[in-house]
Amino acid sequence: MPNIVNEIKLDFKDVLLRPKRSTLKTRAEVDLFRHITFRNSKRSYRGIPLMASNMDTVGTFEMAAVLGKHGVFSTVHKYYEVEEWEDFAKKHVEILPHVAVSCGISDADFEKLEKILAAVPDLTFICLDVANGYTQQFVDIVRKTRNAYPKHTIIAGNVVTGEMVEELILSGADIIKVGIGPGSVCTTRVKTGVGYPQLSAVIECADAAHGLQGHIISDGGCVCPGDVAKAFGAGADFVMLGGMLAGHDESGGELTIKPDGTKSKLFYGMSSMTAMKKHAGGKAEYRAAEGKAVEVPYRGEVNNTILDILGGLRSACTYTGAHKLKELPRRATFIRCTQQVNSVYANIPSKE
Ligand code: 5GP
Repeated sequence: MPNIVNEIKLDFKDVLLRPKRSTLKTRAEVDLFRHITFRNSKRSYRGIPLMASNMDTVGTFEMAAVLGKHGVFSTVHKYYEVEEWEDFAKKHVEILPHVAVSCGISDADFEKLEKILAAVPDLTFICLDVANGYTQQFVDIVRKTRNAYPKHTIIAGNVVTGEMVEELILSGADIIKVGIGPGSVCTTRVKTGVGYPQLSAVIECADAAHGLQGHIISDGGCVCPGDVAKAFGAGADFVMLGGMLAGHDESGGELTIKPDGTKSKLFYGMSSMTAMKKHAGGKAEYRAAEGKAVEVPYRGEVNNTILDILGGLRSACTYTGAHKLKELPRRATFIRCTQQVNSVYANIPSKE
């Protein structure tokens, strides 16, 4: 007989943060920086714990350069060559503490990682990324990476359950990437039926990680700054964004200008047909594409978007009485709701 978990699991849209009495005078008083010491690398980090996703349309050097100025983190995608890394490192030494290099699980990926880390010794974060972080092979790769790089901070994922968070931390990872299926251009849930509602995944995985002095990233599913606040409130140490950072000057993906002058940019999942054609020369017959490609409206400079997100976060802290982002989970009470926003004018474009 199949097991059924009858307890209701929640997504960001199913809850709202309850406002609480506060002594904060203005949102400018809110401190979004966190100071974190990682469990296995023993390194310290200070920054605003938002992250650009390591998708090749989001985790670009151009994105890292802008976000890094705000103290915001970027997991740079794995398709840059060693020489490009050297060039970036030379021009943006001050940004390097806010950057991770990404790596897949093939031998070629690992060899390239070794070369990049040798060429850029100031890089201290490694992001080991697979769609399914539940395989023994992945655990072995985390262990191998930890042995090879005892002092680097290792990000590993993706998983959505506490027991696998613990396994990866005990195998050497410092920060676990949490999220299977919530992404804006992800089709895993449609193709496989597998997934976990993101807010509940974050609550449960944060609890497991924090019990071991590890940390987590809420990866995917944020569609507005309020969702970012909810993810932090649920216990995420970092929140990773894909779609919310897509469509900007600093994003990858081709720009299209329609005859009427409207501009859009191509944004696609890393397991989409578009990505597989670009990076692997096509899709192997045994696998299904688990991502899609969309044309998103062009949105100009990412700087404005990031300021909007940081403003929303400061305001969320003010409403809940959190002086620091770190206090948000302690101040957060989630109210289950049946309607998150008023959608009466949803189809009329905002004039702002
Ligand atoms: P978003 O912020 O756009 O909702 O989610 C971004 C996240 O979606 C990424 O960081 C990554 O974890 C996930 N993702 C990116 N591309 C794909 C894909 O092709 N398939 C799946 N299943 N997930 C993807």
